[in-house]
This record gives sequence, structure tokens and C-alpha cells, in this order.
Amino acid sequence: MSEQDSHADAERKRLDKETEVEIFDAVRGDDDNPVMPVRLKSGAMFNFSCHRGVSCWNVCCHGTDITLTPMDILVLCKHLSIRPPEFLAEYTLPGVWDRADLPVAKLKMTGADGKGPCQFLTDEGCSVYEARPATCRYYPLGLASIKPKGADVKEDFCFLVKESHCKGHDEDKLQTVAQFREEQGIEDYDRVNRGWMDILMKMASWKSLGGPHGKDVSPQVKQMFFLVSTDVDGFRQFVLESKFLDTYEIDPEAVEVIKENDEALLLLGFDWMKNVMFQESTITMKEHVLHDSIAKARENMGAI
Ligand code: SF4
Ligand code: SF4
Repeated sequence: MSEQDSHADAERKRLDKETEVEIFDAVRGDDDNPVMPVRLKSGAMFNFSCHRGVSCWNVCCHGTDITLTPMDILVLCKHLSIRPPEFLAEYTLPGVWDRADLPVAKLKMTGADGKGPCQFLTDEGCSVYEARPATCRYYPLGLASIKPKGADVKEDFCFLVKESHCKGHDEDKLQTVAQFREEQGIEDYDRVNRGWMDILMKMASWKSLGGPHGKDVSPQVKQMFFLVSTDVDGFRQFVLESKFLDTYEIDPEAVEVIKENDEALLLLGFDWMKNVMFQESTITMKEHVLHDSIAKARENMGAI
């Protein structure tokens, strides 16, 4: 084992030991190559450059496993001038984010076995480059979040992934993680996706106990998580046309904002899901609804 590999191995063991496992990786799937993650702080330097001249140009855009984040879908829809239902039907496949057992949308690859090129790949390269998903922007970095045992606050960090097919690591371009993230335009994605990633990570950490507080969330809640994460049009319709606004305290000005603003709607959706799935006080029920719920719960328990 090389010195770097042995360092990576020790680092991984240390992380496993010190933390609850709450990792969201932005790594493209490549089952036949073990990935050696090396933890990097934002000021840490690494060598990497991807450009048309590399011998592996576009190799990584074939048969890749790309989970689409909520922000990916918003940005790609805008770029393609379509709305989420059409985007989902045309460009994605339903999948599961295994570590949390939650439904997600995956970018559809071409080929009967899904191992062909990405449908956005052309001879000129990525045809949606300005709107490419977060996973494509992050590569070869992964994003992880760790909650040290006993701590309340999570800590994000990046890790470097070296896959043998990727020759970008041999290129002469030294940069910090912060510089790379800025160049790739990642900040906006992380800002909007934060709540969604929190939910995935939290579910992943509960998984060994069977789910939040020892109980898995219902299929209906998982379905709603998928709707919130992938289809702002469907979720908006639900918020405005169901009993949602009669149930929760939402500022009237905020209601006006979410009628138009997709990002604001997503943030509301994540807060709501955190409340539904983990009973976090991220959204407040109206008082009369709360009283009714308590009375019903008591009735069910035979208290009255
Ligand atoms: S979206 Fe673009 S960068 Fe990402 S896999 Fe497809 S072609 Fe490659
Ligand atoms: S250098 Fe890496 S990221 Fe760039 S095209 Fe080659 S495999 Fe893909």
C-alpha cells in the first residue's frame, strides 16, 4: 500500500470511529474502481484539471450514476425551458438513495443497460455545461458531512476521489478546494440543497435503528419527499390546493413568494419534511390544528 493509500485508509478508519456515518457523496459511481477518499479542508491544495486535451475526455460521462439534487432539476429545467414533470419523464429514472432508503431521481444514461453516454453528451462535450448537475461540478471531489459523536452541529468537508480512468489528476493545475468550488459554481447548489442533504443524512444516521426514533417513515411520506425534491410544480399545487395552508402557520407574504419562487418553495418543502419525518420544529402547526391533533391522539390512547 502506498503512503497516500495508507494515509487515506487511516483517515477513513478514524472518521468511522469518531463519527456517526452521515456522508453524502457526490462521487460518480464506478463499481470496478475502489475510491480512496482523502479528506480536504477548504484551504487544502490538490492537483487537477479537466479539459478537452485529456486522453480520457468525456469517459466519465458514460454509464454514470448521478443522483439529481433539487437544485439540479430547477437549473436544468430553466436551461431546457421545460417544467419538472416533462424533465422527469424525459431525462430521469426513479432511484433510491440507498444509505437513507429515500427515493431520488437519477439522470438517465443512454443504452439498453444504461451504460451508454449521458444523453446530454455531444461531440462538443456536455451540451448543458452551464446547467450541469452538482455531481458533475463536484467531481473529482466528494462532499461529506459529519456529526461528531455527542455534537449537535454537523461539519461539512470535501474529499478527493482518484479513479484510475481519470487522468485529470496528472495535469499540472494546483488549486485549493475553495478555488475549485468557486470555479465550478457550487455555492448556490449547496445553499439550496442544504435542507435536502440534511434529510438524507439524518435518515442515513437513523437507518441502523430502523428509522427516525426507531420507526421507518411511511411510503406516503417517502412519496411526498420525492415530490418535494423533484417537482416544484406538483408540490406548489399541493401547498396551494390542499389543506396545507389551513394546517401550518405560513406568513401571507411568504405564501405570495412561494407562488412564484421555486427556490423559496423548495426551502419550505425541506422544512416541512423535517417536521413530518423527524418532528423538528421547522414549521409550526396552527393552534386549532394542534389542539385537534392532541385531542385525537389522546382519544386514540383511551385518555378521554
Ligand atoms: S450532464 Fe454533462 S457533465 Fe454531467 S454526465 Fe452528462 S454530459 Fe457529462
Ligand atoms: S479528466 Fe476526469 S473528469 Fe475530466 S474527462 Fe477525464 S475522466 Fe472526466
